[in-house]
Amino acid sequence: MAKDNFREKIPQQPSKERIKNFSEVALGFREEQAGKEAARCLQCKNPACVKGCPVGIDIPAFIKLIKEGKRKEALEKIKEKNNLPAVCGRVCPQEDQCEAVCVLNKKKIPINIGALERYAADYELNQLSVISYQLSDKIQKLKTENQQLKKVAVVGSGPAGLTCAADLAKMGYQVVLFESLHIPGGVLVYGIPEFRLPKKIVQNEVEYIKSLGVDIKTDVLIGNTYAIEELFAEGYKAIFVAVGAGLPQFLGIPGENLDRVYSANEFLTRVNLMKAYKFPEYATPVNISKQVAVIGGGNVALDCARVALRLGREVTLVYRRTEKEMPGRIEERENAKAEGVFFKFLTQPVKILEDEKGFVKGLECIKMELGEPDESGRRRPIPVANSNFILDVDTVIVAIGQSPNPLLARVTANLKANKDGAIAVDKNFMTSIPGVFAGGDIITGADTVISAMGAGKKAALAITTHTYAV
Ligand code: FAD
Ligand code: SF4
Repeated sequence: MAKDNFREKIPQQPSKERIKNFSEVALGFREEQAGKEAARCLQCKNPACVKGCPVGIDIPAFIKLIKEGKRKEALEKIKEKNNLPAVCGRVCPQEDQCEAVCVLNKKKIPINIGALERYAADYELNQLSVISYQLSDKIQKLKTENQQLKKVAVVGSGPAGLTCAADLAKMGYQVVLFESLHIPGGVLVYGIPEFRLPKKIVQNEVEYIKSLGVDIKTDVLIGNTYAIEELFAEGYKAIFVAVGAGLPQFLGIPGENLDRVYSANEFLTRVNLMKAYKFPEYATPVNISKQVAVIGGGNVALDCARVALRLGREVTLVYRRTEKEMPGRIEERENAKAEGVFFKFLTQPVKILEDEKGFVKGLECIKMELGEPDESGRRRPIPVANSNFILDVDTVIVAIGQSPNPLLARVTANLKANKDGAIAVDKNFMTSIPGVFAGGDIITGADTVISAMGAGKKAALAITTHTYAV
């Protein structure tokens, strides 16, 4: 192990600079840093980190390759299991997954696995002009052995759909991926902002998946443009539904229909997908005023707050518990603080106030205190009587969660969903309709990129078993 056994930190754009632009905040390891960090890995015989990774990357093996200066080989090792490494290296909550169980985490200095994964993946970015995305011999062999030439439809091009499509294509299936938006990527393109996940990174990963043979058809809303039954009639032997959780939740308080009240989804889609931050080059308006309140405490709320800040607004993030209970990633919380987002904890909005023209003119809130833990294990927030006060804001962004997209289950006879709208599946990711599988946020509700990818991977295997039989 290296003598200086400290965890290498990923360099960042300085906070004062970065709030003036939408460029990536984290800059990635330099070669020397990556080598040092890789040298700290103990190469455990029974590595806990691999079990902590939902797609089972051979973490010690790729780290060893980085240590040996074999960056390309490290990337190939990762791609044996993970089709979106440059995405995962940037947005996975590693602190709750592989890094949480790394043995060095007992000393609070886990290997910076995310930054090393990103370092390996970015090799490809710098080599775009020469890399031709040839299939490795191993995959080619698998493809020949399993050549089934059966058609599978994948619905939704977020991390779950892309992963399932890529794995099936690697196994020799003809895969057509249908996406309702005009660009593939799901939340990776419409939700997560450019400064955390540049869109050219997502595009690059999508190109890799296309190079495996996946045919991506955009602007197709399954359930509307084509019904599930029509896909079967077209000859698809199985369908994987990965339509995500894009239905915004609201608080149900007076004033939520006023002008300048946004759902997080609408606000982020305008800015990220429709490029409102490049107005007037892109003709997308985003009508927010000077003082913005963002309601919520997760990654989505933090993203909204940091986007509004970069659009030159003053931002207050309103959360009903304390920082300790916030579900948003620690790194992103720290970034938001450093950039100047003001946090108002133990605060619950009760009413959005209206001016004479129907615009927001303030947010009435009540103070909260923490009681006993609820079913999530976090202490329950309880209102403090007579503690109402007005927050002086003129725009409100509601970022308190998303529910599964309801359209497909609503229009597809016999496709069962539970009361929250999540499509019900068995242990093999099969829905109530034989041959229709589902995975990602549409079965779990809003979750993480890597858990959606894990579901896509498992479903791809289950689909293989199913299509042998049909
Ligand atoms: P999605 O990514 O939602 O993709 C579903 C796709 O299906 C969409 O492209 C949609 O347009 C398409 N679709 C929907 N209906 C149809 C239809 N009928 N026909 C055709 N296409 C359809 N997770 C992390 O791990 N780290 C983070 O830092 C993080 N930050 C986040 C920030 C934001 C703002 C948001 C919203 C989420 C964040 N998440 C994060 C969560 C993560 O992005 C999701 O858990 C993940 O994207 C779910 O993947 P999915 O493939 O199930 O669905
Ligand atoms: Fe290396 Fe940590 Fe994995 Fe052990 S658990 S192999 S130290 S990354």
